[in-house]
Amino acid sequence: MKTRGEFGFIDFIKEHFPVPDNFEGIGDDCAILPPQQEEMLFSTDLLMEGVHFLRNESSPEDVGWKAAAVNLSDIAAMGGEAIATFLSIALPKDAQGEWAERFIEGYAQISKLYGVPLLGGDTTSSLRDIAANVGVMGKCPKGTSIKRSGAAEGDTIFVTGPLGDSAGGLQAILDGEERDQDIKVLIQRHKRPSPRMKEGKQLRESGMVNSMMDISDGIASDLEHILELSGKGATVELERIPVSDELRRAGEKYGWNVPAMAVGGGEDFELLFTAPAEIAEKLGFKVYPIGKITGGKGITWTKEGKEVEWEIKGFKHF
Ligand code: ADP
Ligand code: MG
Repeated sequence: MKTRGEFGFIDFIKEHFPVPDNFEGIGDDCAILPPQQEEMLFSTDLLMEGVHFLRNESSPEDVGWKAAAVNLSDIAAMGGEAIATFLSIALPKDAQGEWAERFIEGYAQISKLYGVPLLGGDTTSSLRDIAANVGVMGKCPKGTSIKRSGAAEGDTIFVTGPLGDSAGGLQAILDGEERDQDIKVLIQRHKRPSPRMKEGKQLRESGMVNSMMDISDGIASDLEHILELSGKGATVELERIPVSDELRRAGEKYGWNVPAMAVGGGEDFELLFTAPAEIAEKLGFKVYPIGKITGGKGITWTKEGKEVEWEIKGFKHF
């Protein structure tokens, strides 16, 4: 396919992202945003071909969706509202045409769904692999962002949804399982995660949440971060970790270790937070208590009230 060239590609991007009133987006050396009263949140995430996705396993639309999703999820994890994203992309020759445009289509779909504009970025060629770095800006009223470090002894540990679906979806792709309805749902959860933006904001507004993060590497590893930064320990009841019916059924059918997927599998992008137990009745959505913050150190896993050995670690790049 003939490519539009760098500037044609930038024009193509521009057409896909309406710019909010009082903002200036793609076109000048910098984007311009109206003055903000709140505290500002910034984060970036780098997506590398061969590390985070394989070009022949994921559609370009799915990669574009996920590039934006993982960044939006970081804003949700602070209880923030996303304001805008920025996209820097390096494209080898064979991805400069159709692949890049379809990537933008997927990125635009999720951006529209969550109402977050893409206001700028950079475009360059690459010798071999595709790399995409997304930067995200968000905001919170001053002093209200929820950090990982605030877990308090006696807090209940909650998650916002079932865990392990993304790991199940990935397993099904790797094993080439038949795409029945359950497998389709799991693969969708893997390829098109939904960042918990509304939930994150509502949790912050409750004023009751002491610590929060999004689950990207698996709860075993992610909860450790909260514990380390808060100087606390935790007890987690394995049987309380929520698992979807789809994953339970697929697990039975294919002989998967479902608890290991739920605890060790990453990329569910549900929120993990700690708060007094009463919060569960004060939210407009369901949350799942899975354990307690203690004064100890590390995670103690229990099953039916008895301590169990649990050695599953989350995902680490190196
Ligand atoms: P500069 O030379 O100042 O870096 P560019 O020619 O790279 O400017 O970019 C022109 C405009 O297009 C800028 O507003 C920039 O933010 C935007 N832009 C370039 N690449 C992207 C991209 N991948 N996504 C979104 N905006 C982009
Ligand atoms: Mg540039």
